[in-house]
Amino acid sequence: MLTTKVITFSNYIDGEWKEAVSGKTFDSINPANTSEVVGTFQASNEEDVKLAIEAASQAFPSWAATAPSKRAAILNKAASLLEQDADKLAEELTREEGKHVKDAKNEVLRSAQTLRYYAVEGQSFTGETFPNDDPNMNVSTEREPLGVISVITPWNFPVSIPARKIAPALITGNTVVFKPSSDTPLIALRLVEALHNAGIPKGVINFVTGKSSDVGDLLVTHPAIKAVTFTGSTAAGEDIHQKSSFTTRTQMELGGKNPIIVMDDADVELAATLTINGGFSLTGQACTGTSRVIVLKEVKEAYVQKLVEKTSQLKIGNGFEEGVKIGPLANEKQLKTVLKYIEYGKQDGAELVYGGEQLTEGEFGKGFYVTPAIFTNVSPDHRIAKEEIFGPVVAVIEAENYEEAIRIANDVEYGLSASIVTNNLKIAHQFTKEIQAGTVKVNRTTTGNLINAPFGGLKKSSTSTFRESGRVGLEFFTQVKTVYIGY
Ligand code: NAD
Repeated sequence: MLTTKVITFSNYIDGEWKEAVSGKTFDSINPANTSEVVGTFQASNEEDVKLAIEAASQAFPSWAATAPSKRAAILNKAASLLEQDADKLAEELTREEGKHVKDAKNEVLRSAQTLRYYAVEGQSFTGETFPNDDPNMNVSTEREPLGVISVITPWNFPVSIPARKIAPALITGNTVVFKPSSDTPLIALRLVEALHNAGIPKGVINFVTGKSSDVGDLLVTHPAIKAVTFTGSTAAGEDIHQKSSFTTRTQMELGGKNPIIVMDDADVELAATLTINGGFSLTGQACTGTSRVIVLKEVKEAYVQKLVEKTSQLKIGNGFEEGVKIGPLANEKQLKTVLKYIEYGKQDGAELVYGGEQLTEGEFGKGFYVTPAIFTNVSPDHRIAKEEIFGPVVAVIEAENYEEAIRIANDVEYGLSASIVTNNLKIAHQFTKEIQAGTVKVNRTTTGNLINAPFGGLKKSSTSTFRESGRVGLEFFTQVKTVYIGY
């Protein structure tokens, strides 16, 4: 039998690869085959975090004073390294997180593109000048970096989310302490390694792995931390936001319960395809994933028929197999949560018309597999219609008309992404105004966002303080100083 040696990976602090002070480690496992250890990582504690924050603090003045073009050159070099290694990195990402290797490669390339995007945008990100009544005075604003930034990220986009936080932080002259999810530390480390190999000065980026209960508090409460950029669950985001001091900036990108409204004039084939691509791709584990379908009664039957027919054709399996559309869930907690909500759906009186079973036969038995679940006759007050599941479960809710549909769509505490399927221009416009979501789409999936456009949620999907992504994504990482010069 072929056995591969498991590599132990280090933290990265002050430009060096270092073991955790505790001497302890943890394993990252393959969710498609739980007997496979992808890598062993440092189980850090607050001592390691302190060292990382000290290194980042020391590196800050000189990095802030480094020419923007030099900072940009490092981001561009790191992007080239990610691109060169994209196939290898994609394989590692798939082994660690489970998504299909084609999706993994797209994510690696998107991360490289994000570094390049901010290398350009960040160099022209500046203040404004203000006309005033005094002919002998200039009034302008300058944008300055904040200092040390904590970057805390989830496992579902384990390299593109860190890239869209780290790149704008670095290009504007901040230094970073980065803690990835313990489910996907390897691909996160590869991003840091690319920056290291691109010649980033010591201390500018630091990388610490470990449990949030061991390292999370200090990453948020240490007085040298000037800002925390976090993506993850709403519960963790609320906790972090409350713990951080009022002078620490927070950017919290959180959970969702994203609806797609299917109007009575909708092409049901298109509506079913959009639902599947939005709800079941990445095994339903996208924050913008479709989890509720609000369908007008006239087209409900035809739509559900199409949805079930198309869902039954989706191939489930290991992310390395050709044609696989649904991989494993990313970890055991995810599996348990998804199965729990499928039970809730049945208990609350919804009708499970497709899927919702754990797969345990043969190869499936080694991983965290479930068949995609479609519930109909869902009432807006059912738990599967209100709470984030973060898995391949779609709740179909019937509505009388547009007014009822939009009321149901808005009747949740989240507001991340939403879509409508219609050719009625008036309804489409009305929807973009009335829906409570940070990303609003017409005849497109709830998932997906551009690198160059703002991204973020409303309500409990975000603190809504600063948007990520695009040019506005740079604002969070800079503070404004207003300068009056009389002469
Ligand atoms: P999670 O909240 O469990 O963990 C996210 C990260 O935060 C991990 O690195 C974790 O170790 C750390 N963490 C958890 N609790 C913490 C605490 N109290 N203090 C400091 N750090 C803490 O989320 P997850 O399971 O990794 O990811 C899934 C969640 O992420 C879903 O809710 C999903 O909607 C959300 N998400 C949101 C977006 C977005 O942009 N809005 C994007 C992707 C994922």
